[in-house]
Amino acid sequence: MLDVAAQNGPLIDRLTEKAADLIRSGRYILGPEVVAFESEVANYIGAEHAVGVSSGTDALMVALMALGVGPGHEVITTPFTFFATAGCIARVGATPIFVDIRPETFNIDVEQVAAAVTNHTRAILPVHLFGQACDMEALSAVANKHGLPIIEDAAQAIGTKSPLGPVGSLGAYGCFSFFPSKNLGGFGDGGLVTTQDPALADKARVMRAHGSSPKYYHSVIGGNFRIDALQAALLRVKLPELEGWTSRRRENASRYDAAFGASGLDESLLRPPPRRFEGHIYNQYVLRTSRRDELQAHLQAEKIATAIYYPVPLHRQECFAHLGYREGSLPVSEKASREVLALPIFAGLGEARQKRVIDTVIGFLRQ
Ligand SMILES: *Cc1c(COP(=O)(O)O)cnc(C)c1O
Repeated sequence: MLDVAAQNGPLIDRLTEKAADLIRSGRYILGPEVVAFESEVANYIGAEHAVGVSSGTDALMVALMALGVGPGHEVITTPFTFFATAGCIARVGATPIFVDIRPETFNIDVEQVAAAVTNHTRAILPVHLFGQACDMEALSAVANKHGLPIIEDAAQAIGTKSPLGPVGSLGAYGCFSFFPSKNLGGFGDGGLVTTQDPALADKARVMRAHGSSPKYYHSVIGGNFRIDALQAALLRVKLPELEGWTSRRRENASRYDAAFGASGLDESLLRPPPRRFEGHIYNQYVLRTSRRDELQAHLQAEKIATAIYYPVPLHRQECFAHLGYREGSLPVSEKASREVLALPIFAGLGEARQKRVIDTVIGFLRQ
């Protein structure tokens, strides 16, 4: 699905030199590499402020804690996402309110968001899934009408643009991840919180360091959510390459789209993901097919890796059973879970390997 070591290979000399410099410097917690990385990555994303944190999950924790979300509060979100999105809502003591997705984009259905707002709603947490922006214009209208902050889960969407502007600059906070499989992957865990508001940036920095300001004085309770200086230093080496890697991903996506579009197969057998907005960064290329499990088994037999994001929507996870969402309650997400299949899309895939994937997919579905 993804060859991270091959991607880092050409950078190995600069990476090891950078790591050696950092080790010699003795500055392992925050410090100049973190400050420089925050400024460079904020500039890349198009956000005013960026705060480096320990993971994408912790970026969500910091955002929720900084906004004071806690017990008695509801946060409206999507069930068709990685677990952390809703896990963090529950971890701060609030209740995730799941609403369904749009079948064509896999992103949250804004009309259902509007209908789910109650007196207890404290925030809206949309996810720019697979690297494609949500409908932020419509979401912002709902949020503004009710005076609710939006926390953008942009873990899969670094560099994604929406018609309203870059993701991560449109809500109260944007949350990013440097998990190795994300478009900008570190050498372990890392994450980022972005915001346009200097006061919210300060709050996030305070939450990142146990809620202390100044040191050893705590007016709020935070945690240890710091990004490692080593990760920040190494990510600075990779960041200038990101735009090129994203272009390769887009080219790969266009080749899949063209081949699948020309296959003549029925939509129920093979539906490529629609590109609603330019500015999709294709963290994943996820097609739909009614023969998903058979197709995946066939590809595996042909030594072609695929993945299912996500096999169980969050409202049907055992840990959320007490919330009472029955089977069929969010049918679009449930159907998507049965039909989605992610194909290799990483920058280093190459045309020859991609052609083999295309031919194998189409060949199987024609039988
Ligand atoms: C990866 C991811 C996260 C969590 O990021 P980590 O860095 O792995 O903690 C959160 N939300 C979404 C949608 C993700 O894809």
